[in-house]
Amino acid sequence: MALSKKFLQEIREILNKQKEKLEKDLLSFARPNSKNPEDFETVFPDFGDSTEDNSNEVEVYQDNLAIEDSLERSLRDVIHALKRLDSSAYGTCKYCGKSIDEDRLRARPTSSSCVDCKLKLKGH
Ligand SMILES: [Zn+2]
Repeated sequence: MALSKKFLQEIREILNKQKEKLEKDLLSFARPNSKNPEDFETVFPDFGDSTEDNSNEVEVYQDNLAIEDSLERSLRDVIHALKRLDSSAYGTCKYCGKSIDEDRLRARPTSSSCVDCKLKLKGH
């Protein structure tokens, strides 16, 4: 069952919005890597020069690194899903080649595998 143009358009809009939001979140504390659009580098914050400032800086920096990691991973998923939309591979399970359920795609537009394969991968 092929996905309708209307559905794909809807998904593209959701993905573009997610991409914009993720990039905006990342840019609030990180700078983009000019060589790789999927990569961001967390900027070390500068609160001041007292010992307390310095230890706060390290704490915030480490928190931001963890956030950066998870935002970047989501951004990468979104970018890859948009690429699949462009190459019309979107909506096909990358493991078994079957169509992914529309409801699943709507709930999680970055899905690249069907529920059956996802469960099998979990090993249970
Ligand atoms: Zn599958």
